[in-house]
Amino acid sequence: TPGAHAPASARSAQLFDRASAVIPGGVNSPVRAFGSVGGTPRFIASARGCTLTDVDGNDYVDLICSWGPMILGHAHPAVVDAVQRAATGGLSFGAPTESEIELAETIVDRVASVEKVRLVNSGTEATMSAVRLARGFTGRTKIVKFAGCYHGHVDALLAEAGSGLATFGLPTSPGVTGAQSSDTLVLPYNDLAAVEQAFAAHPGEIACVITEAAAGNMGAVPPLPGFNEGLRRLCTDHGALLIMDEVMTGFRVSRSGWYGLDGVAGDLTTFGKVMSGGLPAAAFGGRADVMNHLAPAGPVYQAGTLSGNPVAVAAGLASLKAADQSVYDALERNAATLGTLLGDALHAAGVRHQVQFAGTMVSVFFADRPVTNYAEAKASDTWRYPAFFHTLLSRGVYAPPSAFEAWFVSAALDDAAFDRIAQAVPAAAAAAAAA
Ligand code: PMP
Repeated sequence: TPGAHAPASARSAQLFDRASAVIPGGVNSPVRAFGSVGGTPRFIASARGCTLTDVDGNDYVDLICSWGPMILGHAHPAVVDAVQRAATGGLSFGAPTESEIELAETIVDRVASVEKVRLVNSGTEATMSAVRLARGFTGRTKIVKFAGCYHGHVDALLAEAGSGLATFGLPTSPGVTGAQSSDTLVLPYNDLAAVEQAFAAHPGEIACVITEAAAGNMGAVPPLPGFNEGLRRLCTDHGALLIMDEVMTGFRVSRSGWYGLDGVAGDLTTFGKVMSGGLPAAAFGGRADVMNHLAPAGPVYQAGTLSGNPVAVAAGLASLKAADQSVYDALERNAATLGTLLGDALHAAGVRHQVQFAGTMVSVFFADRPVTNYAEAKASDTWRYPAFFHTLLSRGVYAPPSAFEAWFVSAALDDAAFDRIAQAVPAAAAAAAAA
């Protein structure tokens, strides 16, 4: 039974009760709740390197990494030092700073398709602003998104949105009006013919196609060969903008993100997570002629009191600087090792499964064949996941509490961490088999 060997969680349970009285569902973002796996979410007291420590004193090998940002591991000395120095100099000015330029230059330097960048506070803001800019630039209203892709909780982008909506089985959200969603066309991921048909059915009406550069919010589902290239071609042919959402993949799967792997240039690209170092910072950028439509250079409005916050920018810059080639090599190695451990254990336990990679993002599907879209992800044996998850957790391995989320490695995972994972996965695989 899930939780049968669970380490002490009394203090977490107490805090969860207390949180639930004043915070809806006890959490400030739905995927943190153990909604689909059951049990009490662990309240984290601190983290260092690849280890999370909860309020009951339990240690976990962290395979979530704050849902992506922490590629260096937690409390990396260079990042903490940069944050402390920035904080000492003042927390927010509402006026421009030199470090914002440095972060923008770093992004422009690493991602050749991006000529200009605007900093924002979250991935949601980045995609919301990119879509508005695409509409303002093209003068068109309709947008195309793919089922199972998550682009933040933007009204127009919540339809069949993956991530927490997949976890909780929500097709979209109450509160999104017909007016907000009726211009959104939702198509199956990895299906170029569907995109071609959409352009044919709505000539001159589609402002943009937004896609995760490689999907990570229905589990790790990479684009099939030619899919991103095909989107690029169709958008160009039909005068629509291509928005590459690299909030998850950016600066994680390579120093230039997914763009560094397939070289398909979005007209606009969104970033978050890794570029923030773990503080609230995100960005969108792209072609200068498009970005110059933003206020105050142009008429498309977009703003933010805390955008380019000096402490967040310092954390992001320090993280990107510390992420040298050895860090990306370690991410590659660690993702491969994790995938092998998971696959071997599930194979030995006789559980049908796929270990999938989108770059260095990893996930496990309980399915016979590779999962290429949301329908296939949903059709997998997700009911095996809670037992798998809880057995790992009870043995000190913190995996995503949802069958529809990618697993994130850090460069800080060491031999001791992999020993612990290696010891935990056979029991977890057996639990999944027995589920
Ligand atoms: N786009 C993608 C691809 C994401 O994975 C996420 C967050 N998981 C977002 C956008 C939204 O980012 P945020 O949670 O910072 O608003």
